[in-house]
Amino acid sequence: MEIPRHWRLKLERYRLIGRQCPHCQAKIFPRRGVCTDCGGETTINEHLSEKGQIYSFTVMHEASAVTPTSQ
Ligand SMILES: [Zn+2]
Repeated sequence: MEIPRHWRLKLERYRLIGRQCPHCQAKIFPRRGVCTDCGGETTINEHLSEKGQIYSFTVMHEASAVTPTSQ
């Protein structure tokens, strides 16, 4: 994912803003316009519960400027 997109999605990811499908009630995170379970359209944002299990995670690092050193 490119850095600008990561920053745009940062708040909704840290605040666990997802969607709930109005057709099958599945909770979708990160939010998408289409339900991953039934394929129905999702339009309502929902603040998800802050309890659950961690499925996977990623550690992101910002590259630092490296200055050449003389030897
Ligand atoms: Zn659904």
